[in-house]
Order: sequence, then C-alpha cells, then structure tokens
Amino acid sequence: MRTPFIAGNWKMNRTIAESLELVRALHYGLPWPGEVDVVVAPPFTALRAVADFLEKSYIGVAAQNLHWEDGGAFTGEISGAFLKDAGADYVIIGHSERRRLFGETDETVAKKIGAALRHALVPIACVGETLEEREAGRAAEVIERQVEGGLAALSASEAAGIVLAYEPVWAIGTGKTASPEQAQEVHAIVRGILARRFGAEAAGAIRILYGGSVTPASSGQLLSQADVDGALVGGASLKAEDFMSIIRSAKKV
Ligand code: PEP
Repeated sequence: MRTPFIAGNWKMNRTIAESLELVRALHYGLPWPGEVDVVVAPPFTALRAVADFLEKSYIGVAAQNLHWEDGGAFTGEISGAFLKDAGADYVIIGHSERRRLFGETDETVAKKIGAALRHALVPIACVGETLEEREAGRAAEVIERQVEGGLAALSASEAAGIVLAYEPVWAIGTGKTASPEQAQEVHAIVRGILARRFGAEAAGAIRILYGGSVTPASSGQLLSQADVDGALVGGASLKAEDFMSIIRSAKKV
C-alpha cells in the first residue's frame, strides 16, 4: 500500500520568521498525523531554519527548484548539493509556474531529476495540461509527453522512489479544482504510462499527488480516489489550520 503524501508548496511566500511560525503551528498543532508523509517547501532562504526546527519532527523539507549542475558559474542558481547541505530531503521539479514563466522543458526536468537523485533528494516531479490543451482533447497526450520526457533516464528502481504530481495548470491558484473523477482518470493514465515504462511493481510504488486549488473541503473526496495518493497544496498550505485538515483527510480508511 502506498503511504499518503501531502506536500505544501509555499512558493515565493514567507520570511524566515514567518516560516518558523508556520512550521511551529503545524508541529505543535498536529504532533503525529498517523501514516501520512508530510512535507513543506519553504523559499530557499528559510530552508536551513525550517530544517533545523523540524529535525526531530515527522515533517520533511522540500526545496522548490534546483539546478542540474552540481556547482560552478551559474549565477543565481542552487545545486542539489547545496539543498542537501541546507537540510532539504525533497525537491519540487517542473512546477507549471517554472515551465510557464522560466522556460523549463521536459529536457531540463529530466536533468534536474537526475541531479536530485545524485544528491539523495527525492524529486516531486510535476506534470499537467493547460486549459487549452484539455479543451483540445490533448490532456493525455501532453501528460504522456511530460512523464516520458521527464523520467526518460530513470531505471525502474530509481523511478519507484520518486513522487509525481499531476497539476492541471487550469486548476492551480484559480479556485477551480478538478473533480475527483477527472483527477482519478488522469492519475490512472499516468500509472498506466509508468507501468508500460517501468513495469507494474515500480508503477504501483510511485506516489501520484493531485495539485490544483486543493482545500479542506475538496481534499477528502480527491484523496479517496484509488490512484490519488496525496496532494501538492499551494495556497491552503500557507494556513496551518487548512493544511492540517488536508493532512488529516489523507489518512487512508
Ligand atoms: C501549487 O502551487 O502546486 C498549487 C497546487 O497551488 P494551489 O493549491 O494554490 O492551486
């Protein structure tokens, strides 16, 4: 059975002091959530402070991006080695905001996944179609291209250890959540692609998260779907009470 996985993507929000306030509220508000993996992704500047505070907690720490090289003349970039050094265990890769605003492609996603694995960071790799692509009936094709392209260089055992997030671009930060049926349909497609590429065992081990305007009101139904193994939460992860409700709703019954 796949352990449910809830990740909070704080994006470009929260100073160091604000980040510590938020993780304190989570740590003391929900001392132990049961069999649920929980991760928060603060901005780079707060990684060290958050990781130190959460050292003995069940909550893991993710970065929101990395560069594929390990070091060198790449002004403004951060490598996997530095993320590991700052206390991160996970890294979000290929978020649609990075694809749309910062030119990330399936090729750079693949290189970043390779870099994350080299530094023992678990990649949380994001895929998802735009509204235009969905309306043109191309959602499955786009997602297949992103999954195949991003995971191209992985062995089955490497793939089994990563986390994937299906985030329809039209649902991110818009308040429009995919219905549980829409999410399940795409998650099943993703698992099918993974099974063809890596075999049934690896495909059965990979957690596939749903992301896109998840709230405490929508999380229970989404997470009850067979192939929805967790959530990547943006806006609602900045409110401790909402994020804790989403975590609680992830416990498999
Ligand atoms: C995200 O940023 O990954 C996300 C899903 O954001 P939101 O929950 O705010 O739509």
